[in-house]
Amino acid sequence: MNPINYLRISLIDRCNFRCLYCMPEEAEISYALQEHWLTNEEILTLLQEVFIPLGFSRFRLTGGEPLLRPGLVDLVRAIAQLPGTEDLAMTTNGFHLAAVAEDLYAAGLRRINISLDSLDAAVFDQIIGHRGRSRWQAVWQGIQAAHQVGFDPLKLNVVVIPGVNDHEVLDLAALTRDRAWHVRFIEFMPIGNDALFSDRGWIASEELRQQIRDRWGLTEGRVTGNGPADIFQIPGAKGTLGFISQMSECFCDRCNRMRLSADGWLRPCLLNETGQLDLRTALRTSTPLDELRDRVATLLNLKPEINYKLRESGTTGRYARTMSQIGG
Ligand code: SAM
Ligand code: SF4
Repeated sequence: MNPINYLRISLIDRCNFRCLYCMPEEAEISYALQEHWLTNEEILTLLQEVFIPLGFSRFRLTGGEPLLRPGLVDLVRAIAQLPGTEDLAMTTNGFHLAAVAEDLYAAGLRRINISLDSLDAAVFDQIIGHRGRSRWQAVWQGIQAAHQVGFDPLKLNVVVIPGVNDHEVLDLAALTRDRAWHVRFIEFMPIGNDALFSDRGWIASEELRQQIRDRWGLTEGRVTGNGPADIFQIPGAKGTLGFISQMSECFCDRCNRMRLSADGWLRPCLLNETGQLDLRTALRTSTPLDELRDRVATLLNLKPEINYKLRESGTTGRYARTMSQIGG
């Protein structure tokens, strides 16, 4: 069992995109009240007094869309400076990244994952549910800005949806041939848009790997902070490819992460609400911090059992909340 040392922190449950795999256009998403969002101070208190003392050292900021969070750069700087923070990363849709990439890097963020599901502006806008002037260019500029300020490895996330962007797998993989980027293909999960999932299904990573192998060959690779991804490389490429295969190869037994939602719920698992803790209410009712630490420690001890049960039951169920709400 891996040590549980990785916390994904959702900074906001809102998003400026409505990706069709994450938030179906027609669906009503219920958002947390803004006064329920953990403040920067509350997040820092939790990290300093609860999570770091319990052995957490790796943090990823996510959402919703984390770049929409007010006071983001100050928060990044404060987390990066906490004694005990060994790794600080962010997952973003990149739309506002060009304007803040430099400030984020200066504040101490070193790793960034940007979602880029298509190289075709029309397909991209269809996926993110946007009409009007295309948003692809702004995201691409965000990626370039992140590259120029030195984020390394720069990771691009692609959720592959049959009949929507699966025809672009080779083009997206080819980005790694002359750039030291890391392109990660994520199997579509039945979380967020059940109707699309039932209609289109998902494509197993091995099928994508076979397409790439047939074209260029594929060898095993390495990348920093690979988490659950299996890493490969096109021979001679500067960059690498990752495959996150949570549908075809459940990796729940290797899971070393917990998730903190924007409104302060700690979840031991993306797909399972067992044991989740309301840390916001606990903080706001002045629960002593050592008691909070004990509650989180108890949940940490339960996690292997939760992981095991999920592995046994598989990850193909249907889930009530979207990744944007939980903090993907
Ligand atoms: N807004 C940011 C973004 O899109 O990168 C961060 C939050 S988003 C919820 C985090 C990741 O979850 C993204 O890489 C997204 O592609 C992934 N995601 C969302 N819904 C998914 C689904 N149904 N299946 C697989 N991945 C999904
Ligand atoms: Fe898309 Fe991320 Fe927003 Fe979900 S949270 S709609 S994946 S940009």
